[in-house]
Amino acid sequence: MAFADRHFNWRPLGGGRIVDAGAGAIDRLGLASVPDDAKVRAMTDESEGLKLALHTPAQGDLPQPPPLRTLAQTAIFLDFDGTLVDIAARPDAVEVAHTLPALIERLDAVLGGRVALVSGRALAALDGMLGPLDVAMAGSHGGEFRPAAGDEVHPLADPLPEGIAGPLARFARDNGDLIVERKPFSMAVHYRGHAGMREPLLAMARDLAEDHGAGVKDGKMVVEVVMPGSDKGSAVAKFMEMPLFAGATPYFVGDDVTDEDAFRAVERFGGGGILVGAMRRTAARWRLDDVRAVHAWLSDALELAPPGKTDDEMAGGSGEPTG
Ligand SMILES: [Mg+2]
Repeated sequence: MAFADRHFNWRPLGGGRIVDAGAGAIDRLGLASVPDDAKVRAMTDESEGLKLALHTPAQGDLPQPPPLRTLAQTAIFLDFDGTLVDIAARPDAVEVAHTLPALIERLDAVLGGRVALVSGRALAALDGMLGPLDVAMAGSHGGEFRPAAGDEVHPLADPLPEGIAGPLARFARDNGDLIVERKPFSMAVHYRGHAGMREPLLAMARDLAEDHGAGVKDGKMVVEVVMPGSDKGSAVAKFMEMPLFAGATPYFVGDDVTDEDAFRAVERFGGGGILVGAMRRTAARWRLDDVRAVHAWLSDALELAPPGKTDDEMAGGSGEPTG
């Protein structure tokens, strides 16, 4: 595999020997943001001692998505954390831009109701942060499904059994009081600030998941045990079965590994994924740098079409993805 040096005190020294520094080395370097597939290598040299280098596999970047107003008959699926709001130290500490609820509602109007939020959070948490939005939502990675505000919530999965929740909560409490987020169909343990807990937490989560037929999501500073049927790809597919969404070209905007199921799902419906954040291995076709870039991309659709106009009335290009 071709590796590209990123930084650190790395230079090839005569007689040196390159070895993988092993699991945990990336955590020990204390870096804020490292791609999942990065490796730390150590080079030994008799005279100069140990050198460490962070390597990320060389990979081409993705293009920016085409302007939203040029995409015809579009459905937009939006992740929340890391996509519409910046990630905060605690899940309840995110700051919602005061313009965000109106942006989502206007976009929904412009796209004829074909906007949906698809988040790992519980619907109640999303409602609490965004206020009552008349927009379709799926919460808990699709475990809760609500076609439009006020409608009944349809569970797409079985509730999380105590046999998973109890042991995970005890583990979190006994290992540095890790933050636990209990949702109807999943339970997330956040280990930000306790990077060394990732491996034991993952191992335990995988054991519990196997015993109960559940799945494990290995996210950004979070490990989550999720009941089957509750992933973001299932939620996207469920929306696309609805008459309102059927036949539209879907785009999913998301930042985390849990969004990859949804990136693959929108591909199956002729659309594509839009990764938010730094480049990494992904099923997405396009990339936006950060939350601000997402807001700008979404706002673009509103500039040519005032609220109330549908995209069928807008000046449009081809509906085909160009990436
Ligand atoms: Mg996210």
